[in-house]
This record gives sequence, structure tokens and C-alpha cells, in this order.
Amino acid sequence: MKITPRPLIAGNWKMHGTKLFASEFARDLAGRFASNIGDRFDLLLCPPAPLLTVVGEVIQSTPIALGGQDCHATAQGPHTGDVSAGMLMDVGCTYVIAGHSERRSNHRETDAVVRDKSKTAQKGGLIALICVGETLEQRETGNAVDRVVRQLRESLPEASQPQNTVVAYEPVWAIGTGKTPTPDDIAEVHLGIRIAISELMDNPGELRILYGGSVKPENAAEILAVPNVNGALVGGASLKPDNFLAIAEGCP
Ligand code: PEP
Repeated sequence: MKITPRPLIAGNWKMHGTKLFASEFARDLAGRFASNIGDRFDLLLCPPAPLLTVVGEVIQSTPIALGGQDCHATAQGPHTGDVSAGMLMDVGCTYVIAGHSERRSNHRETDAVVRDKSKTAQKGGLIALICVGETLEQRETGNAVDRVVRQLRESLPEASQPQNTVVAYEPVWAIGTGKTPTPDDIAEVHLGIRIAISELMDNPGELRILYGGSVKPENAAEILAVPNVNGALVGGASLKPDNFLAIAEGCP
């Protein structure tokens, strides 16, 4: 029997929010999903590190998951400003984003760094949500699938399995721009990822492959219906509970 993974709708708040915003947002969401999200989708919130406990305390008895936006590749040590996978676990996280394009560009994170961070996260018991995506130039020169698959192979730790990994395809040019690839373009990249994964993991059909980049309520249903799209990583539109939920409601 073919198993299709349940879609995951993940909200990446990036560097937005205050304690008040975080508690009101979490209360609103938790109020709607106190004990049961239903069986159409899973929800994940990734607030900035200082707001993890605020959100975590509100959602801890709900099915909504908590995730960090980054973690260091080592377990502890002299790394001012960084957080470890263990610290994220300690405040209730089950996920961590690794290799978001903003970290790759702002902090010069290479595929090797992303792989090391993801490995440490997986070893510590977190699910690594590993981001990959092409630039506009790579898309325009027809190299999107090759580029994404190469980046994925180099960013993915050896022990990656569907239980400890989520992959997010996020075209760099689509993040925060309001632009999105066509459904056919998304399908092509997601299929390329699924094929690559089948050489790297057992049960590749169970791996969740999210699409990210300017997902909003108006385009969510069309994107979430694309073959091999198993959810969305949402930035800007995850900052309003109604928008975030409207996206999740777009799951097939
Ligand atoms: C993101 O940053 O992961 C993202 C997808 O952002 P946005 O939805 O705002 O494009």
C-alpha cells in the first residue's frame, strides 16, 4: 500500500514578534485545536528563539508542534548567540529548520554546515527541516532541478530517514517576493527530490517534502494539490493566525 504522508504546515516567523504577539497568536491557534487538529494536516510553529517558551507553554497540551529556526552544529560550547539542539529540545521543540536560504546567505552557511547542523539535530532527537532551493539565475538557465538535488545530497546527513527529516523546497527568488513557480515547475522539482531521496532513504514515499515561497491563502490549495507536495513552509503569511489556518485548510 502506498503511504502518503500527512501534510505539514509550518510557520516560520523569522525575526518577528514580541512576547505579547506570541502568546496571543498561540492562544488563538491553541483555542481552535485544543486536542485535535483532525487528520488532514499537522501544524508547526517556529518562532524566534526568545519566544519559544512563550509559544511552547501555550501549545504544549495541543497537537501543534514547536520548532527552532536554527541550531548550532555542536552540542555546547563557546558560541555566543547560538542555540543548541539540546536547548531546543529542553523548551519543547520537536523540529528545527536547517539551511534556510536567509541563513545560507546572511551567515554564509554552506551545505556542509547545514549537514552538520542537521546531523546534530537528528542525533539529539529533533526532526531536521532542511531547506533547499535555486536562485533566479539557476532557474533561468534551466538548472533548477539539478541545483536543488545537488544541494539536497550535500545537505542531508547520512542517517536521514522520513522519521527524522523534512525537506523544504524553497526557490530563493520566491521567498518574500510574492512570486511563485508554476504548479508544473513545483511538480518537476518535487519529483526530482523524491527520486533522489529514493536512493538515500528507506521508505522514500513517507518523506514530507514541503514547498515554501510566497504561499498565501489565495494560492495554497493549488500548490498543496501538486504531486509530491506534502505541505508548506510559510513565512510572511504565518504571522496572522487566520492566514496560517486558511493555508492549512487548503490541504487536499
Ligand atoms: C520562508 O521564509 O521560509 C518563506 C517561505 O517566506 P515567505 O512565505 O514569506 O515567502
